[in-house]
Amino acid sequence: MNFRNFKMIGYVVYGRGAFNQLDEILQPHRKGTSPMVFLVDHFFEGKELAKRVPARGRDHIIFVDVTHEPKTSYVDSIAKQLKDQFGTVSGIVGIGGGSALDLAKAVSLMMNNPGSSADYQGWDLVKNPGVYKVGIPTLSGTGAEVSRTTVLTGPTKKLGMNSDFTPFDQIVLDPQLTSNAPANQRFYTGMDCYIHCIESLAGTYLNEFSKSYGEKALELCREVYVNKNSWDDESDDKLMMASYAGGMSIAYSQVGVAHAVSYGLSYLLGIKHGIGNCIVFDHLEEFYPEGVKEFKKMVDIHQIDIPKNICANLTEDQFDKMIDVSLGMKPLWENALGKDWEKQMNRARLRKLYQRF
Ligand code: NAD
Ligand code: ZN
Repeated sequence: MNFRNFKMIGYVVYGRGAFNQLDEILQPHRKGTSPMVFLVDHFFEGKELAKRVPARGRDHIIFVDVTHEPKTSYVDSIAKQLKDQFGTVSGIVGIGGGSALDLAKAVSLMMNNPGSSADYQGWDLVKNPGVYKVGIPTLSGTGAEVSRTTVLTGPTKKLGMNSDFTPFDQIVLDPQLTSNAPANQRFYTGMDCYIHCIESLAGTYLNEFSKSYGEKALELCREVYVNKNSWDDESDDKLMMASYAGGMSIAYSQVGVAHAVSYGLSYLLGIKHGIGNCIVFDHLEEFYPEGVKEFKKMVDIHQIDIPKNICANLTEDQFDKMIDVSLGMKPLWENALGKDWEKQMNRARLRKLYQRF
């Protein structure tokens, strides 16, 4: 038995208004005149939060386009731009949803690694530590703030740069930053966490470490989405901790069917992670009966729109492509269905499932 020995994030600060401490937190990490670079979700361009970014001297703010999930080409172009303009930087600070956080992790790594980020999509391929990196979520749910991966769409695959160098050196968890997110988006991203918990807790990889975090995260999700029909500050506080704990839970286990299937949707149709998971999970009664029942209840209580009929006009080739991508996620299937998962899941069964979305 070889137990996973995983690298965690360096420092954590949590609390309403913790963002105001950022200047002080960054100070000891400034190296001479090398700038701090802030990769800020483009949603915040011209907004209050952008004005609160503690940029000094040669510091640089880039509003990152997160219309689509991060691509390796985008990561490479930002890293190149920074190297050309500054040579080296003191650090990279990502502020935004999971997409901006993943971009920040990947750009930090590419400041110190040669070639393209596509060369490092996989497990433990990254050679050198990145520059100092900070993650500041403005949506709660993905767990990207704690994970050892950064999910990127490359020329041939959608896969993370999964390595011990990937986790942030510092995260700033300030629930105030999530307070104005639109209800639908907040739900889709929040459900990413809910689904992480269901998949982790029902999985064959589960151990007491994952279970402890997964149960707590699930309890917090329920307090926010099942026991309440409105949103308040306490909901933001709780969901931010749910995201953190949910991420810790899957660090030692794995996600399952919803993720394996939604990866296919997002690769082929560019559907974003959170919403893709919701589209899929809505139809997974045969795998997660209780979870799906509760999910439908939450959709109902919060009057959320889950897109339908998105696979109605796809060709056989397109179904094949999604099935290929999904069946490639072996550890996810193994966690969900056990070592003999290939006996239970096959192309025909998956084809039927995709047809329902
Ligand atoms: P996102 O980062 O893609 O953002 C979704 C939308 O919300 C964007 O339009 C963004 O501009 C906007 N937004 C962000 N914060 C906002 C706020 N406070 N108010 C209003 N709008 C806001 O969404 P997400 O669900 O947080 O992240 C999904 C991404 O995270 C995907 O790219 C996925 O691959 C990645 N992910 C990574 C991991 C990991 O471990 N690294 C895990 C899960 C998901
Ligand atoms: Zn997820």
